[in-house]
Amino acid sequence: MKLVTRAQLGWPASAAPSQSTARGVKVHYEGTPVSTKLLTDHNACITEWKNIRKSHLANKTEGYSDVAYNYAACPHGYLLEGRGLRKRTGANGNQALNQTHYAIVGLVGSSGLTEPPAPMLSAIRDGIDLLRDNGAGNEIKGHRDGYATACPGGPLYAWVKKGAPRPNGDDEPSTKPPAGTPKYETYPGASFFLNGSRPALGKKSPIFTAMGKRLVAVGCGRYTDGPGPKLGQADVNSYEAWQRKCGYTGAAAKWPPGKTTWDKLQVPK
Ligand SMILES: [Zn+2]
Ligand SMILES: [Zn+2]
Repeated sequence: MKLVTRAQLGWPASAAPSQSTARGVKVHYEGTPVSTKLLTDHNACITEWKNIRKSHLANKTEGYSDVAYNYAACPHGYLLEGRGLRKRTGANGNQALNQTHYAIVGLVGSSGLTEPPAPMLSAIRDGIDLLRDNGAGNEIKGHRDGYATACPGGPLYAWVKKGAPRPNGDDEPSTKPPAGTPKYETYPGASFFLNGSRPALGKKSPIFTAMGKRLVAVGCGRYTDGPGPKLGQADVNSYEAWQRKCGYTGAAAKWPPGKTTWDKLQVPK
């Protein structure tokens, strides 16, 4: 996941109301013409996102406290933080709809750039998975579901109706270690959690850095910061995502690592 945080955007903490759970996520588009310049200039994506926030803050009718979306996704596969996690969106049309789904906008519009490139779809999917790990349920819908609007436009809505799959079978990133990775051996420090013990959050070890890098490589990174060397909630969330990817559910997918998923992850020594 390629996350651009509010801090990186130079924005203060979101003043939007907290909301710790929702039924799922709704997908949006800009609904205006969007320049195809975004395809070749990532700086233009950042400017676009900042301008969306500016226009929302200037919208006296809505009285927005912040950009209305939880996240945006750009053509280069970046997930751009908006209100972020556990914040109520202002984008779904009315308060009841805002309470039932979080909101992610793809930076495509009604003319100009209308077709979401594959990296954008991956980034929206990253955002959906990130929100699911932080209180969102499994529903994936479009803004037009339950509200009279063309949003999120034809191409994005068709993708939503298919269940928002990762493009190009990207769903199963290779679990093989990248070329040049030292020969795999179970990391010697791993025994302390492979026997079922739960290292406390905040415990420091190079193993958490090595583990986190592999979790990112297999598409399970849930980091906004890190990985490592301190064990954090993001490491736990990432590892649980990995165990779910390996087919475990419920308590079996919970931290700490199981031997099978640990061996399959191939954390280099
Ligand atoms: Zn919308
Ligand atoms: Zn971009």
